[in-house]
Amino acid sequence: MSKRVYINTIGCQMNVYDSERIVNSLIPLGYETTPSVESADLIITNTCTIREKAEQKAFSFLGRLAKLKRKNKDLIIAVGGCVAQQQGQTILKRMSHVDLVFGTRALGRLPLAIEKIAKQRCRIVDVDMSSSLEDEALQSHVLKADTVSKFVTIMRGCDNFCAYCVVPHVRGREISRDPALIIKEIEQLVNEGVREVTLLGQNVNSYGKKEGLCTFVELLSRINTIEGLSRIRFTTSHPKDLSGELINAFGSLEKLCNHLHLPIQSGSNRILKRMNRKYTREAYLTKVAELRVACPEISITTDIIVGFPGETLADFEDTLSLIRQMRYDSLFVFNYSDRPLVPSRKFTPKVPEKDKNTRLQQVLDVQKTITEEIHAARVGQTMPVLVEGHSKRQKMEYSERIDTPLQWSGRTTCNKIVNFIADGSTKAAPADFTGETVCVSIERALSHSLWGKLKEKASDCSALKGDRSYAA
Ligand code: SF4
Repeated sequence: MSKRVYINTIGCQMNVYDSERIVNSLIPLGYETTPSVESADLIITNTCTIREKAEQKAFSFLGRLAKLKRKNKDLIIAVGGCVAQQQGQTILKRMSHVDLVFGTRALGRLPLAIEKIAKQRCRIVDVDMSSSLEDEALQSHVLKADTVSKFVTIMRGCDNFCAYCVVPHVRGREISRDPALIIKEIEQLVNEGVREVTLLGQNVNSYGKKEGLCTFVELLSRINTIEGLSRIRFTTSHPKDLSGELINAFGSLEKLCNHLHLPIQSGSNRILKRMNRKYTREAYLTKVAELRVACPEISITTDIIVGFPGETLADFEDTLSLIRQMRYDSLFVFNYSDRPLVPSRKFTPKVPEKDKNTRLQQVLDVQKTITEEIHAARVGQTMPVLVEGHSKRQKMEYSERIDTPLQWSGRTTCNKIVNFIADGSTKAAPADFTGETVCVSIERALSHSLWGKLKEKASDCSALKGDRSYAA
């Protein structure tokens, strides 16, 4: 009889990717996933420590599992990810119902650890960071593709040591994967129906440098030739490493999407220096100007931290003015919080929580207006959309009869979510649009998405000469 694994993933896309690999690596042990934590034989929490809230969320979830363990002594409870790497043995001491703590580079050894615990009822901590990436890949089952778009990790770790960031401490130094293995993984995914990949790394711009592999742009160029793949995205880019070669690639590689996530963090040079970001506001703006010349349709998103220690009102005003100047398509904004191991926890003066909250809201308000204006400008345009499936709302409303109303969801190359209908007024609609690129005429702009109507299939759309040229 098969065993059931419940996996709770907290944090970034890297954790989402790791969770998929974990699930796949457990298939040979007879595990299949369950959406019900109560019915699981194995519960894994993949944790994040980038912010205090994420860590609290993990411990609160783990705390609730004690009751399940009391009811079922054979239940195995495992904790992975960044909190596991950082706290190791401490988690076992703090939580007697936890059986396994595995770090960020112990994924390949996870099946063996689970088997050992099931047989011997022992407790294990594995936070060894010496394993190579391909050890993990070799021990993983081939990834199953169940969606149109998939993440593919191309590197792990970070060498940048931004003053507030725990990543280099819990994910280790940068290691890049062999390009041949990346290509092979993507080809496998494409064979299973994937049409879009997002290449993942803490700083993809420095891919391959240390190991003397190919450059990131060379890797992109090779992926660009994979037949059957429609789109390539990547995240995250460090502004200091955004090269002219990569900027030009946005104008020349037809599968590379018109979207770049380029975290600025602060608009104040004084704060950027304290953060150890190694670029200035001016250097960032110069690169963005070059990018907009190379690819005028590009949409740019960012991350902002408010309330970094020592951030004055004048510094914060610099951030607001930069957001207005940049006119980001969207952004993520976070209140600064002290994290263990990082230098900035010792920086003073700390910004009071209420001031951080006020600043966060101000950033959200400024960005909301900009995003609404950018979305409103799309109304009336026809945009190519890679269809990911039925829209979420439809899934909720029509879970019993999912194929009845033709409401679909997908993304533009500039990463806008578009929900659209394909009713009888359109040309003969195929039974399933999933994985196809279609032309949608935009009728309404919403805060976080666009709404439209199917115009024609991409193959019939005369305006569509490659995704990117038609995405403005
Ligand atoms: S570049 Fe800076 S913020 Fe990003 S992962 Fe590395 S240390 Fe953290």
